[in-house]
Amino acid sequence: MKSLLNITPVCSWLAGAERPLIIAGPCSAESEVQMLNTAKSIAAIDSKIIFRAGIWKPRTRPNAFEGVGKVGLGWMKKVKEETGMLISTEVANANHVEECLKAGVDILWIGARTTVNPFSVQEIADSLKGVDIPVFIKNPVTPDMQLWIGALERINQAGITKIAAIHRGFHSHASTPFRNDPKWEMAIELRTLCPDLPIICDPSHICGNTDLIPYVSQKALDMDMHGLMIETHCMPTVALSDAKQQLTPAQLSGLIKKLVVRKSNSQNPDFKNKLEELRESINKTDEDLLQILMNRMLTAEKIGTYKKENNVTILQKNRWEDLLNERLSNAAMMGLSEEFVRALYVLIHEESIRKQTEVMNNKISI
Ligand code: PEP
Ligand code: MN
Repeated sequence: MKSLLNITPVCSWLAGAERPLIIAGPCSAESEVQMLNTAKSIAAIDSKIIFRAGIWKPRTRPNAFEGVGKVGLGWMKKVKEETGMLISTEVANANHVEECLKAGVDILWIGARTTVNPFSVQEIADSLKGVDIPVFIKNPVTPDMQLWIGALERINQAGITKIAAIHRGFHSHASTPFRNDPKWEMAIELRTLCPDLPIICDPSHICGNTDLIPYVSQKALDMDMHGLMIETHCMPTVALSDAKQQLTPAQLSGLIKKLVVRKSNSQNPDFKNKLEELRESINKTDEDLLQILMNRMLTAEKIGTYKKENNVTILQKNRWEDLLNERLSNAAMMGLSEEFVRALYVLIHEESIRKQTEVMNNKISI
């Protein structure tokens, strides 16, 4: 499929951009000391890490810490001079862009609360016309693929080709262990729609706490994502924003050492043969699965006819509850996750009901 975007590959504009590209630094710039202490410890891990810090913070409620503003750009500049790291921050309007360009910020990103607003994204895009700077675009707060792509397109159409997407998870009403539901399928869909667009994962905002960060970081690499943005603070416990999810530089270093970077492919013929064999087996299983699902739906239709003949309602609440509980307990014994099997059965049940309704309606003659 032809990509929707015109992209300059990262390797051509970022020196030493081997994977994973790491962006690290505090959620917010708080003071010059905090910035320099954090930055120096991060640079000691690897000076190719890109430094991040929020200068203007979009907060849900007023009177929370809304960032130090312009003065923080001076501290960022100092970070760049003293460590040699590239510096990046979030912009939400044309004025932010102007201040960042004046201060020599290397990379801009658009935050999740801004990506949802086409007016703001367009304002940023217009302010970037004729400017050559990389821009990363976080997914919108809600899982709306069109908004995410729309924001990427607006920036791209302003002439910015050094672009990447940042996957930071989505607001969800479902109960998940995450602050923002990763919805990995959204990242996969974006990848399919824009095959050459680098995607960077932001495990910090997905997790909301430090416990899950190693798991999400490794999963992102296993999903072939280009890099990671990880909030890192010299003293997370006293951070003015997102205190629970920030790593210390020592924790960041430990995490980077433990990450396993896999190749996207292998030329080894044995690997290829074995993979072919396993894929063939998956294909066969999927065929059987579809056949089984078809049989199940045929039986549902027969049940629909029988209920119609006996004037019985389609939905039988107790039967559905018993069935689901039994399937869940069998699935648990088979080592299948409850979340997966429950979601699968909700879909199967919905389709069975649809089939039965179809049968009942077809039988109505006037
Ligand atoms: C941030 O990176 O600190 C931030 C505010 O992130 P998001 O836009 O993903 O909420
Ligand atoms: Mn944050």
